[in-house]
Amino acid sequence: MLIQQGRLAAFVAEIFIAAGAEPEVAGEVADHLVEANLKGHDSHGVGMTPIYVHNIRGGRLKVDAHAKTVVDRGAVLLIDGQLGFGQVVGREATDLAVARVRETGVVCAGVRNCHHLGRIGAYGERCGAAGLVSVHFVNVVGHPPAVAPWGSGERRMTTNPFCAVTPQPDGPPIVLDMATSAVALGKVRVAHMKGQAVDEGVLVDHEGRPTTDPAVMFDAPFGALGPFGKHKGYGLAVMCELLGGALAGTWTAQPGNERNNNVVNHMLMFVLDPAVFGGVEAFQSEVREMVAYLRSAAPAPGFDRVRVPGEPELKSAAARRVDGIPIDGNSWQELLKAASVAGLSERRIGELTG
Ligand code: NAD
Repeated sequence: MLIQQGRLAAFVAEIFIAAGAEPEVAGEVADHLVEANLKGHDSHGVGMTPIYVHNIRGGRLKVDAHAKTVVDRGAVLLIDGQLGFGQVVGREATDLAVARVRETGVVCAGVRNCHHLGRIGAYGERCGAAGLVSVHFVNVVGHPPAVAPWGSGERRMTTNPFCAVTPQPDGPPIVLDMATSAVALGKVRVAHMKGQAVDEGVLVDHEGRPTTDPAVMFDAPFGALGPFGKHKGYGLAVMCELLGGALAGTWTAQPGNERNNNVVNHMLMFVLDPAVFGGVEAFQSEVREMVAYLRSAAPAPGFDRVRVPGEPELKSAAARRVDGIPIDGNSWQELLKAASVAGLSERRIGELTG
């Protein structure tokens, strides 16, 4: 089925209000999730709602928590998300960093104890839209690992996202925003929901053999996700674990730490005002010329044209704003169930979805 973004956001916001969130908070979380769907990342869209409702009811996600600054040393900030909605505390932390960078030129911010931050690109885009460069190292903890290190079939980490953003003089920021696993776990979940196979090279079974069956991630005997880009992607994942998890969060995926079916992100974020180096115009001119040079490369068979990071998301959003957001039957049923679990009456669910 296809649902228009406004209707979907209104439904999801009401679910979070029923679960105890203030309307403003519920609206911000719903908008972030729907934006992920618009940008083509259904893995980080409204399909996360049932998990969030489950975690609210279990006391693992605090609907009224906000970002709290625990260290303020000018260009260095440490911000505790206090297990609030990542979409709220992550945005609040980003706004603190963006405000500070106007004074200091560069900010290094540790952002710890956030319930799932969702699409990390959302925070990078906020920096990019303010004309700033940003880099984000993020780890994911609170539940058992899912990703095998390079050279093994055993799970040791999760999908540890990395994001880097640069503003463009005449267009939207360039946004590299990616899981360091071969794909985001949510994408395997979506494939599992749809009964589809995943691409080769993404998963291994419990004996470390390659497989395309997403069930190995959800049904015993469990397999694992692999890193993207062999040893190089694995290396970046390790840096996300150590910089986001050990440094910003003091909480990595090692088994001495809590694993209670929560989804917690820790993020080390660098924000830089390109003006601090002087020569903003030269920077912008080089970005403009280099992007044009990249785009001028002849497309290989199977490609329509060369794009820069962030463009596929803009293309998807433009189409889905018009056509609506596709939601598969299983995910829709899970959303309806979550609405009921959160406390919305059947009559109200009918009004919102009918
Ligand atoms: P992806 O593989 O779809 O895209 C990764 C990057 O590649 C994007 O920046 C995209 O713009 C770029 N890209 C894709 N096709 C391109 C092309 N043809 N030319 C140029 N650039 C191209 O993304 P993913 O790795 O599946 O991650 C999906 C989302 O999941 C991200 O938003 C990420 O932040 C999120 N995530 C979040 C968590 C968390 O714990 N919060 C964990 C993992 C992933």
